[in-house]
Amino acid sequence: MSISEELIDKLKQLRSESLSIDDFRSYVKKASDQHSRSLSPGALIKLKRGDATTVLGLGKTIVAPCAQCKSLPSERVFSGLSDHENCTRQVRDAIQKNILERVSKPSWYQPEPGQLGSEGYYKCASCGSLWCLVESERNYPGLWERIA
Ligand SMILES: [Zn+2]
Repeated sequence: MSISEELIDKLKQLRSESLSIDDFRSYVKKASDQHSRSLSPGALIKLKRGDATTVLGLGKTIVAPCAQCKSLPSERVFSGLSDHENCTRQVRDAIQKNILERVSKPSWYQPEPGQLGSEGYYKCASCGSLWCLVESERNYPGLWERIA
């Protein structure tokens, strides 16, 4: 297994909660020299010291989305009520087509402070990527984003 395949594997284990953040960090530290060839110094520091939310937020740029993920709505802060409704409808369709499944909040995930609306969490049934839909609430527009 190449070093980047190994990193992708570890990131997947972290997001599915089969690897703890501490074990992930010790893996990155051990393989630090090899990773420094393919990752920027800033990215490496985030992987070594970030909490799981930060690590997996960066990890989504390393773990590529699958073809099914690409059919999902694009990540965004909603521009208004109808944008929010469109996205909610697309997510509901994706669940009906068994592309997404609803999951409970990953234990490692910490939403942004100031996020007012209630959240729903979803997993891509084919690759395991994790997504979050936050409802609009008062001045808060709501959003759809891949969290891992
Ligand atoms: Zn996927």
